[in-house]
Amino acid sequence: MKMKAIVMTGANRPWEVQEVPIPKTEPGQVLVKIHASGMCYTDVWATQGYGGDIYPQTPGHEVVGEIVEVGAGVRTRRVGDRVGTTWVQSACGRCPYCRENRPLTGQTAMNCNDPGTTGFALQGGHAEYIAIAAEGTVLLPEGLGYVDAAPMMCAGYTTWSGLRDAVPQPRDKIAVVGIGGLGHIALQLSKACGFETIAITHSPDKRELATQLGADQVVANGNELRDIGGADILLVTTNDFSAAGAAITGLKTDGRVVLCGLDFTKPFSISSDGVPFHMMRQRVIGSTHGGQHYLSEVLDLAAKGKVKPIVETFSLDQAPEAYNRLVSGKMRFRGVFTPSQGS
Ligand SMILES: [Zn+2]
Ligand SMILES: [Zn+2]
Repeated sequence: MKMKAIVMTGANRPWEVQEVPIPKTEPGQVLVKIHASGMCYTDVWATQGYGGDIYPQTPGHEVVGEIVEVGAGVRTRRVGDRVGTTWVQSACGRCPYCRENRPLTGQTAMNCNDPGTTGFALQGGHAEYIAIAAEGTVLLPEGLGYVDAAPMMCAGYTTWSGLRDAVPQPRDKIAVVGIGGLGHIALQLSKACGFETIAITHSPDKRELATQLGADQVVANGNELRDIGGADILLVTTNDFSAAGAAITGLKTDGRVVLCGLDFTKPFSISSDGVPFHMMRQRVIGSTHGGQHYLSEVLDLAAKGKVKPIVETFSLDQAPEAYNRLVSGKMRFRGVFTPSQGS
């Protein structure tokens, strides 16, 4: 049996739509008919070779759908379950990191030695079917549609983990740097928690939208943020760290910068204007997916309508067009493939 899948055939090569075999359901796995698969900017990093020589591979790690087959030994999932999976769907269970029972996160020397990474080491979600480790699936809450659920698997999970990792206190002001795939969700999450929320964006055309998404104020940069009193937390959601470093001029004493976007092209650096950041007792916090309990929390917020992604949907056949929109920053704001809708 064959299925349609988007395939990365090599570094910096265009995405191809291919007919490939439907994956076999191995013991411990479930086979999922994919209803929605969100595009993350990390799909671009994977295509450009930053994820290593993983080709040929199907990208996509915001995957949701319906279980159509359950592999041997799976006790917690059933045919018909609505599930999703994320960037890291399984861990080796044996390395020093895993022995501390830590959250499933990306592969580095200090995380799990041998994780199952969706859309990198393992097949991703931009296809009609996917076999996933049952332990790496989460049940979707009732009432949350597939298209709205998909972006929660990375964009929602990432920004919610970032907000959690900043340990916000009552009355903290939260500034979101970058209003894109992650940022437009971060604004809604911050507002849903009742924090005074500020959007930082260079794009004049995003100001009104940022307000609609929950921003109490919108500024263009760190200096403007400082002029309105500053923020306690800078939630950095862009894939361009230069905007993050420059925003620090608006961070208050004891403020925290949380890096949740990924920029492989330049290091994170802090503006040297003004008082040195350590004299302000400021902290820089690295953040990534913080564990499936955080993912469940953000799915619950989405099911309650507290956060709703703005999406553009595509068929798998529209892969080249979708990729171009993503890589050029034109996507408003999350691209989602809907493989079960046909082409
Ligand atoms: Zn992602
Ligand atoms: Zn491990």
